[in-house]
Amino acid sequence: MKILDLYGGEKPVLSLEIFPPRVDYPLETIFETLDELKILNPGYISVTYGAGGSNQARTVEIAARIKRDYGIESLAHLTCVRHTRAEVDQILGQLGKEGIRNILALRGDLPEDDPDFDLSKQDYRFAYQLINDVRKKADFGVAAAAYPAGHPECSRLKDDLYNLKQKVDCGVDFLITQLFFDNRIYYDFIDKALAIKIDCPVVPGIMPVLNARSIRRTIYLCGASIPAPLLKLVDKYENDADSMGKAGIEYASMQVEDLLTSGVPGIHLYTMNKHHQIAEIAKNVGI
Ligand code: FAD
Repeated sequence: MKILDLYGGEKPVLSLEIFPPRVDYPLETIFETLDELKILNPGYISVTYGAGGSNQARTVEIAARIKRDYGIESLAHLTCVRHTRAEVDQILGQLGKEGIRNILALRGDLPEDDPDFDLSKQDYRFAYQLINDVRKKADFGVAAAAYPAGHPECSRLKDDLYNLKQKVDCGVDFLITQLFFDNRIYYDFIDKALAIKIDCPVVPGIMPVLNARSIRRTIYLCGASIPAPLLKLVDKYENDADSMGKAGIEYASMQVEDLLTSGVPGIHLYTMNKHHQIAEIAKNVGI
């Protein structure tokens, strides 16, 4: 089924994001996590794709098994920036063969470790080009990424929003946002998006802060800002992982509750493959 069909129902859709284990870890570890996440009855589970990495085949295999073995719809992430058009063709063929019907079409981050990388020489420079190709070549449901606080590469929020509109106009069914820690940023973004007729579902992505150190890296990578109340918690529990974990679950639960009250189409939880914490949030908010 197309995931878009899930949105617009009476109940908000819970979706969960997982990542494939590194290639030197057994693949089976992810199925232990999935056994637990299935209990939460998610509408779908998305599987990240390592841009330029070596475990891309695992994305396809895990997304296929989520559908086949767990009976849950899956959303396979696909990044295009370091792929040729021929490679993308081949991956789309493989996804189709495995029965995967939904793709999160992404550009992917630019490589930090390659000073010679030249975006202008790539087959794909931006996600909208991938969205166009997917739409032309196969009957997939297509989602894309949105950045309520702006994408880090874009110096003007307005330009970023128009670039998002271009993606949506290429045929995006729904959007999933980058994580944010202040719901006002999401609400403000929705108002601006609606004003330029981005009217597909925009699903808020929420990640619980479970570890003071890893949150700094996440923020460095995705450009999200930390509001003062959360920063106080991170500072307070810098050296107390257990308390940080509890406070992070409570903070994320509050964010989700507030979003649900405002009538969002769904909640996308960045699980970081940590099922206990995600189950606690789901229990706290009754989703
Ligand atoms: P784009 O939409 O192409 O945007 C990239 C930048 O280019 C933006 O600054 C945008 O404003 C600008 N831009 C877009 N179009 C134009 C244009 N026509 N002219 C000029 N500028 C333009 N990364 C992974 O590697 N694997 C994953 O699995 C993954 N999953 C993700 C899931 C979600 C929900 C999100 C929010 C992000 C995910 N990412 C993932 C990260 C993503 O790949 C990076 O943020 C990447 O840098 C941008 O991808 P994009 O698809 O948003 O790119």
